[in-house]
Amino acid sequence: MYKNIKNIDKIVFGNGSFSQLESILKPHRVENNKYFVFIVDDFFDGKELANQLPAYEEDMVFFIDASHDEPKTGQIDHLRDEILDLKGTPSGIVGIGGGSIMDIAKALSVMVNNPGSATKYQGLNLVKNPGIYHVGIPTISGTGAECSTTAVLTGPEKKLGIKCEWTPFNQLILDPELTLTVPKNQWFYTGMDTYIHCIESASGRLYNTFAKAYGDQSIELCKDVFLRENSGQSLENSEKLMVASLFGGLSLSYSEVGVCHALSYGLSYVLGTRHGLANCIAFNVLEDYYPDAVGDFKKMVIKHGIDLPKNMSKDWTDEQVTRMAEISYALSHMWDHAIGEDWKEKVTLDMIKDLFYRM
Ligand code: NAD
Ligand code: ZN
Repeated sequence: MYKNIKNIDKIVFGNGSFSQLESILKPHRVENNKYFVFIVDDFFDGKELANQLPAYEEDMVFFIDASHDEPKTGQIDHLRDEILDLKGTPSGIVGIGGGSIMDIAKALSVMVNNPGSATKYQGLNLVKNPGIYHVGIPTISGTGAECSTTAVLTGPEKKLGIKCEWTPFNQLILDPELTLTVPKNQWFYTGMDTYIHCIESASGRLYNTFAKAYGDQSIELCKDVFLRENSGQSLENSEKLMVASLFGGLSLSYSEVGVCHALSYGLSYVLGTRHGLANCIAFNVLEDYYPDAVGDFKKMVIKHGIDLPKNMSKDWTDEQVTRMAEISYALSHMWDHAIGEDWKEKVTLDMIKDLFYRM
């Protein structure tokens, strides 16, 4: 059976396109209880973007801190209850921020129509009722969360996405100008997410022509942004990285991530390390699996003077490393893609622990 991919309904791309948000929302303001919920990264609180937000009197605006924790199931439950208690079902949800905010907006759009805790819906196609209209406006590029079918949440028992037909956005506004204020290290960590998505997508058995076409293009754009002569943070490169992120996500819609993401999830779960940084820490020790790409990655780190923690494992207990390895090992779909159906014969918990000890 081939995957039947649900994608974004509509996309606007271009510098300054954020100004089209008001007219895009207008026809939807008649739906449900006739108001919108804006979920905005609190970096923008008090900034120009907040003044330009087309929020009407009846709308609700939440500024959310995405600088420490990744989205949690409890956070979604709490927000959903607050929104429904105060005003009933909104016409739609608008998410403005990075991958964290994209995931919160996606999760909320289904949770307003589905009872109980978000923990009940972590997994594939567990959501019963269709979600509501939702718009994604990324302000940092790399995760592909703007186009993926998953809303990644950390719950009391697992870090796993709500994945269903209704999670992908109905509308994206891709305005590269919004990403110009991202600090350099964060720009690199999140940007590398898409580079690593494409390398991993290409290095496994699910790779096909569809995944390759998007992935190849995304890798070329990443090399312009991070490796070649005019690399660095600029408006032109912001445009490129925004498209690279989208294409990286589309490449993955027909393929899968691999060893780096399996390790990265282990790090994030045990130490709370943010996704982009955790990927970079893991990728840095994966020469054996992705030799050329890791070589280029190291050049990019040096070229942009990026802070990359090393020798971290000296501070970890064996218990912690074992837990990280167990979390990684459990992500069988990633190992299956990267190593093959018989991966359990080739990869042991001790091998994974050894990779963590190299970090
Ligand atoms: P983020 O949303 O976690 O934000 C990181 C930091 O960047 C925050 O401090 C934020 O305030 C800041 N920031 C965002 N935009 C900014 C701007 N324009 N100027 C200045 N600062 C800005 O970053 P991320 O790396 O995009 O997202 C990581 C999250 O995405 C994780 O929670 C991860 O689980 C999730 N993720 C989801 C998917 C998916 O398919 N759903 C894929 C990969 C990662
Ligand atoms: Zn990723």
